[in-house]
Amino acid sequence: MIEQQLAQALQERQQAGLMRQRRQLETAQGASISVDGETLLGFASNDYLGLANHSSVVAAFTQAAKHYGVGSGASHLVNGHSREHHLLEEEIAAFTGRDRALLFSTGYMANFGTIMALLGQGDLVVEDKLNHASLLDGGLACGAKFRRYLHNDVASLEKTLALPGQRKLVVTDGVFSMDGDIAPLKEVVQSCRKNNAWLMVDDAHGIGVLGATGAGSLQYFGLSQQDVPILMGTLGKAAGGFGAFIAGSDVLIETLTQFARPYIYTTATPPAVAAANRAALEIIQHDSTRREHLAQLIAMFRAGAASLGVQLMDSFTAIQPVLLGSAQRTLSVAGTLQKQGILVGAIRPPTVPNGSARLRITLTANHSAEHIEQLLVALDFALKLHPATDLDNQGTA
Ligand code: PMP
Repeated sequence: MIEQQLAQALQERQQAGLMRQRRQLETAQGASISVDGETLLGFASNDYLGLANHSSVVAAFTQAAKHYGVGSGASHLVNGHSREHHLLEEEIAAFTGRDRALLFSTGYMANFGTIMALLGQGDLVVEDKLNHASLLDGGLACGAKFRRYLHNDVASLEKTLALPGQRKLVVTDGVFSMDGDIAPLKEVVQSCRKNNAWLMVDDAHGIGVLGATGAGSLQYFGLSQQDVPILMGTLGKAAGGFGAFIAGSDVLIETLTQFARPYIYTTATPPAVAAANRAALEIIQHDSTRREHLAQLIAMFRAGAASLGVQLMDSFTAIQPVLLGSAQRTLSVAGTLQKQGILVGAIRPPTVPNGSARLRITLTANHSAEHIEQLLVALDFALKLHPATDLDNQGTA
């Protein structure tokens, strides 16, 4: 009976064009990748600075694996916290200008565990409508009153923050993962001050990409630990590795160390991963050429798209979505791009709201100007081959 119901739900998802599928990658991350036996130009990776296969990052990983072996062997609080983890935490704290940092095994766990540890019954958590699923899940599960405000709309935030709550926490992405736009953090900080609320920023897509030394959205806006007490970052995107961190005050970090269950009850990441993260952090901070190259490619892509009449979203980050409306059109355009040797993300509900399916194109420092040209030509062709229908324009699909 249960099995039949599950099969029915899967069939419905399939019929709506919303079935998610995995592909097999047969090469390292890079501009040119082999996927399911096909060589493609990849525009679907979060390896924004091209560090996932950088020689010194790989060397740091290999060296540490020779020393520590593969597994960490235990959770951080038992016996799995290595010197590499310790040094990485110290370096992240210095990099982000904060008292301390705490490593989590994944960004999902960092977000979920932090909100769960800080809030409970009688509290209020207020989140941007387009926040990452892990933030929304933490808000829903923590027992506090959970409210969402309109995307990047400070008036809507203010209204929501007026609701009662013992502790109030505002949570927003720094750079939104499916739209690529940046939260108006200065205004959000003001609003939190006025309403005596704490602020948590998930900068998974800002760290490494934004700011003079790659310290992310907060550096871009010139905001400190006093302005944004809780900063979350991931190490699996621009840092090219794996894992995540929360950075903030001593009290915050000690609270999470003692009470964040996804921190306490899971095996620490392998020490070699921490060593690779350290090498990547070094490059992020001291070599701005990758960031600058990426910024040039973004500008070039946007100018090229504008001249072809391709409508882009309001983003100057590495995430450059093309909003198409229906899941079907998105799949068709992505399929045509693939036939032309180009891989992009086809993002559909429930990852994005109904009627706002899109291509998620991500640019990285691995790309060249020629790659961007190729992408633009292919995109122009694919969009013309699959023009918008009423279904796309009504935003109902
Ligand atoms: N926050 C945001 C904004 C993300 O995009 C992601 C990854 N998709 C995460 C958190 C989760 O990070 P991780 O992949 O390390 O679990």
